[in-house]
Amino acid sequence: AVDCIDCAADASVVSAVNEGIDVAASIVPEVQRPWVMVSVNDDCRDLHFRKAEFDPEDCPPDCSKPCDKVCPADAISLKRVMVGGEHAQSDPICDKLEGGVIMERCYGCGRCLSVCPYDRIRAMPYVRDPATTAELLKRSDVDAIEIHTTGKWVSCSLVYLSLLFLCYVAQL
Ligand code: SF4
Ligand code: SF4
Repeated sequence: AVDCIDCAADASVVSAVNEGIDVAASIVPEVQRPWVMVSVNDDCRDLHFRKAEFDPEDCPPDCSKPCDKVCPADAISLKRVMVGGEHAQSDPICDKLEGGVIMERCYGCGRCLSVCPYDRIRAMPYVRDPATTAELLKRSDVDAIEIHTTGKWVSCSLVYLSLLFLCYVAQL
């Protein structure tokens, strides 16, 4: 049995995890619901904390968009537009793609990175800020918190103090 699921302190990630738990519970109702634990970090090299990013203007307009098809969170939105206005003749060389990654939905799974035939997608790391974590801790579907730290004294102390305050605010 899984006792606890550790995920990044990001609303899209927490929602994806809880959706997964709901689906699992509907299939095996007798299994105890695991805790959802959010992680905060002070080191942007931690793979828990990343989002996909690309510039659609760098994409060939006639790309079959495998990134869009493989994304489990429906976090990539792309549409082909005709350069010169909607009444212009579609031209595979001049048309372009618009849109890209919807950051609020991307939870950094990385599936899109490997399927892009033109290597246009990057994984962008981020450090979770205390204010966003405080908002997450107010949710009823977050049960615990974990610190990912470099272990450097100043960095670790700042994260620890911030979290003490957050737990006080959220009454965890
Ligand atoms: S990293 Fe995952 S969730 Fe984010 S856009 Fe790519 S496939 Fe979608
Ligand atoms: S697969 Fe790559 S090139 Fe094609 S639309 Fe997605 S990011 Fe752009």
